[in-house]
This record gives sequence, C-alpha cells and structure tokens, in this order.
Amino acid sequence: MITLSRLVKTFGNSTVLDGIDLTIEKGEIIVVIGPSGTGKSTLLRCINMLETPDSGEISLNKLRIDFAKASRAEQLALRRNTAFVFQNYALFANRTARDNVAERLIVVDGWPRARAHARAMELLERVGLGDRGNAYPSALSGGQQQRVGIARAMAADAEVILFDEPTSALDPEWVEEVLGVMKQLASQRQTMMVVTHEMQFARDVADRVIFMEGGRIVEQGPPDQLFSDPKDPRTRSFLRKVL
Ligand code: ATP
Ligand code: MG
Repeated sequence: MITLSRLVKTFGNSTVLDGIDLTIEKGEIIVVIGPSGTGKSTLLRCINMLETPDSGEISLNKLRIDFAKASRAEQLALRRNTAFVFQNYALFANRTARDNVAERLIVVDGWPRARAHARAMELLERVGLGDRGNAYPSALSGGQQQRVGIARAMAADAEVILFDEPTSALDPEWVEEVLGVMKQLASQRQTMMVVTHEMQFARDVADRVIFMEGGRIVEQGPPDQLFSDPKDPRTRSFLRKVL
C-alpha cells in the first residue's frame, strides 16, 4: 500500500497540487483523468520525486518520507520502488532494446551484466519483442518503443508503475498493442497508476478512476459509477466532452 498525505507542489506563484491525499492499494489499477494543466503529470512525477514536492508525506512499505526534508538517500529509495513510463518513451537512442531494459538492473540494482541481459530478454518476450532485443530505438515503431519502455519499467520490480499518457504520442495504429500489454500487466495485478485519455481502457481495466481539476481530486470511484453517475458538476462537464 502507498499512502500520500497533504501533497503540495507549487511552481512559482501557482499551486499545482493543492493538498492531495491518496491511498493506492497493492494490486490496484488507478486511472487519472482531468483537463489539461490540472496537475496529473505533476502528481505522478511527485510520487517518484522526478519533481520535488513542497510538502506532504508518502509512505511506501517501510519508507516514510516527509517531502519537505527528504534526503538524497530517501529520494533514491523512492525511485527504486517506483517505475515510470513516459509519453515519449525516453529510451536511450544509442542502446539496444535489451540494453535499455537491462540498464537499471545493472546500474541501480547491481546485477551482473549477463544476468541482467537474460532478464531483459525475458521481459522483452513478455511484451512481444523477444526477437527485437538487438534493435536500436530508431529501428522500432512507436508502439514497439513504448513496449520497450514498459519492459524497462517491469524490470524495476517496483511497488507501482506510473504511466503518464503512454499512448498519447503514438500513431493510432500502435495504440492497441500498447494498451494490450498494459492490460496484461493489470491482469497480473501489477499496481498501476495511469494518466490517460483512453476511456475504454479505464472502463475495462481500472479499479478506480480519479478525476482531478485545479490541483485537487474532485471525485473518484469505480469506472461504472464515475462514468455513469458523476456527482460533481465539474466531473460531469469534463465527461460530457470526452465520452
Ligand atoms: P496535460 O493533460 O496537458 O498533460 P497535466 O494535468 O498533466 O496536463 P501538469 O503537466 O501536471 O498538468 O501541469 C500542471 C500545471 O503546472 C500547469 O499549469 C503547468 O504549466 C505547470 N507546470 C508543470 N511543470 C512545470 C514546470 N516544470 N515549471 C513550471 N510550471 C510547470
Ligand atoms: Mg500531463
């Protein structure tokens, strides 16, 4: 279980996250939706301290971190327990698919190279890229690159995988294969928090949908309930536009 309390993040004068409280259960699949500029990416980035929150706390397993005075060691511990899938894949262009996946195992977790490579190939197999281990990102389609990005996140064996619009940069033809890999992960009960505009994915896969606006959680619930019977007028107005 991961618990966030009173998370606040400002950029200059603007408060982008305004006191977020959130508990993520083990094995839970959460989808986050909301208008542009509302703090969805910032929330994910704060959870693994790609951004440093102003204040608030996170607890994850035995870690308990006060963001206002987090040490470098605590930041690294949090990074180690969370994995991120980026909209633009963020692969190393000069490394093969296999080496992109193995990188963290070698550098962060200290695995011997051969073992890391074997594990990377296993994970590439699981995302349907068992035959592309030696390919460089430029030789892969967008969908394949994002599947490498997901395999890399899986390699972290993290408590939660954070996905920030993983299909938004893809040509439409590659969206389904990436969603398919995510569905497979979800069915294995990998804890996931996903920012996406893919409402059908949310309906099919999410245990809980969170609607954010203006740096706050406005409303949340199981997809059936949230999509069919939203309580807050802001949620209703947003859903009218996207459903
Ligand atoms: P989108 O749906 O467009 O991706 P979002 O909900 O993910 O939007 P964020 O990217 O979290 O929104 O941004 C929230 C607010 O914080 C926006 O007003 C944005 O301009 C601002 N912001 C985000 N990152 C930074 C930064 N590094 N420096 C300054 N302002 C930032
Ligand atoms: Mg965003």
